[in-house]
Amino acid sequence: MSYKFVKLASTPLMSSSLRLTSRAYATTHDADLVVIGSGPGGYVAAIKAAQLGLKTISVEKDPTLGGTCLNVGCIPSKALLHNSHLYHMAKHDFKNRGIETGPVNFNFQKMMEYKVNAVKQLTGGIAMLFNKNKVKLVKGVGSIAAPNKVEVKGEKGVETINTKNILIATGSEVTPFPGVTFDEKQIITSTGALSLESVPKKMLVIGAGVIGLELGSVYSRLGATVTCIEFLGSIGGVGIDQEVAKTLQKILVKEGMQFKLNTKVISVKKEGANVKVEVEASKGGSKETLEADVVLISIGRRPYTKDLGHEKVGIALDDRGRVPVNNKFQTTVPGIYAIGDVIHGPMLAHKAEDEGIVCVEGIKGLPVHFNYDAIPSVIYTSPEVGWVGKSEEDLKKEGIAYKVGKFPFLANSRAKTNGEPEGFVKVLADKKTDVILGTHIIGPGGGELINEAVLAQEYGAAAEDVARVCHAHPTCAEALREANLAAYCGKPINF
Ligand code: FAD
Ligand code: NAD
Repeated sequence: MSYKFVKLASTPLMSSSLRLTSRAYATTHDADLVVIGSGPGGYVAAIKAAQLGLKTISVEKDPTLGGTCLNVGCIPSKALLHNSHLYHMAKHDFKNRGIETGPVNFNFQKMMEYKVNAVKQLTGGIAMLFNKNKVKLVKGVGSIAAPNKVEVKGEKGVETINTKNILIATGSEVTPFPGVTFDEKQIITSTGALSLESVPKKMLVIGAGVIGLELGSVYSRLGATVTCIEFLGSIGGVGIDQEVAKTLQKILVKEGMQFKLNTKVISVKKEGANVKVEVEASKGGSKETLEADVVLISIGRRPYTKDLGHEKVGIALDDRGRVPVNNKFQTTVPGIYAIGDVIHGPMLAHKAEDEGIVCVEGIKGLPVHFNYDAIPSVIYTSPEVGWVGKSEEDLKKEGIAYKVGKFPFLANSRAKTNGEPEGFVKVLADKKTDVILGTHIIGPGGGELINEAVLAQEYGAAAEDVARVCHAHPTCAEALREANLAAYCGKPINF
């Protein structure tokens, strides 16, 4: 890497101390690959690229590495989900299991500190991995100045990177709600929900997708009255099998969450300590005003391309603000690639990571293969929901003849023994060939179990293949095997 020192002209972005000092110099770097954004897509791609021998620079505008996922997404939400679940178990379930604890309380500040520590450890871990793999980090806002040049505006002024390739991994941001300003205290996004100072008494959640259900669950378990308002007629967002969605809704209602489906939000207004939300039926009807002390708006995310400079090199975004790429993650400009939330496909951390790996393998001339039919989705509620491949609704729409193999956790010895009998595994297989087309799980450890189904689907397994694999006993994974047995020959053993 070469460092050329050039006298820097002062820009409005520079701090006054930088402008005044005669030591403010622009730095120039050379690289094989510049990755803009250090979320799960970008940081994984950068490490893989360095491992493949590319001189790699990661550019990140935020103070910590890891992007949405590690800082304000997957990781902090799972810390709160796990600990609120333990609290809920201790309060409502331990007695039935013969565990006497005395009065059970929670310390919300401590729960938040635990979350902060989890985030700190993991974001710091990326910095260590960068060092270990010799990925250079340049801090600041990265902008594509030319097909082979990235400019980074940061604390050190403007740094220029001359590079053979550029990978855009700038991720996504919260979709705003028309006419609403987030104060992150009363009217909040998921980011605000991960850092509230206290548990609200009443919380309204607009959008019963993944974020609404996960963060709604956290506050419901901690004692808030949570009502989710959803435009559609079912919960769980895009791709969820409707039988699973209905089962999940029933279980969450039993746990105390409330749902207003087929409901449109007309306005969200702050009035003193309260927020008023005016709603009506999606298809029109009489209006109603709901009140809460906190309103979480979780109606989706949109690609983030602010300050990226893509337009300077002629990259036009699609109608949903995404960077268009081909199946090798190449944009319309040779040498410029894009992956993760900023391109097409589900906005998931593992999808971004895997795209990053195959994209840089492609830059090195290796084959690029990515199977979008084998990306798992998980909702980390209790019980967890996990699925991969087609839902029954997809198969009906596509006119594909299929057979169903279902197995309830009620009949699984481990789930029953653990006192977690709710839910089922449903396997959808091709009627003629028996090849697995989709697997849908709602039940204990669904988010872990789904990975076995993903492996089967990625390798084109038939239901019989999984049914004939020896599974440890007693495990919840036996329910997956039995559902495959039911799909393959119509008859499970234990149900
Ligand atoms: P991001 O993680 O968004 O990272 C992009 C990075 O680029 C950011 O660090 C940003 O600062 C940086 N950047 C942007 N522009 C520039 C620029 N011009 N210069 C320099 N840096 C720039 N997914 C899951 O799979 N599982 C989960 O459990 C899960 N839970 C979630 C919970 C919540 C509350 C949220 C909000 C999301 C969750 N997600 C989850 C989604 C997941 O976080 C995203 O899919 C994932 O982070 C996308 O990765 P990415 O690398 O594409 O982008
Ligand atoms: P989502 O797309 O999952 O759900 C948004 C929901 O809001 C949908 O059900 C939609 O019908 C509803 N909606 C939209 N506009 C509405 C309106 N005006 N009124 C009422 N309802 C409305 O989006 P999200 O929950 O915000 O999550 C964003 C992204 O983050 C998702 O793509 C998701 O994949 C990702 N994420 C993943 C996980 C996970 O993998 N466990 C967790 C959290 C977030």
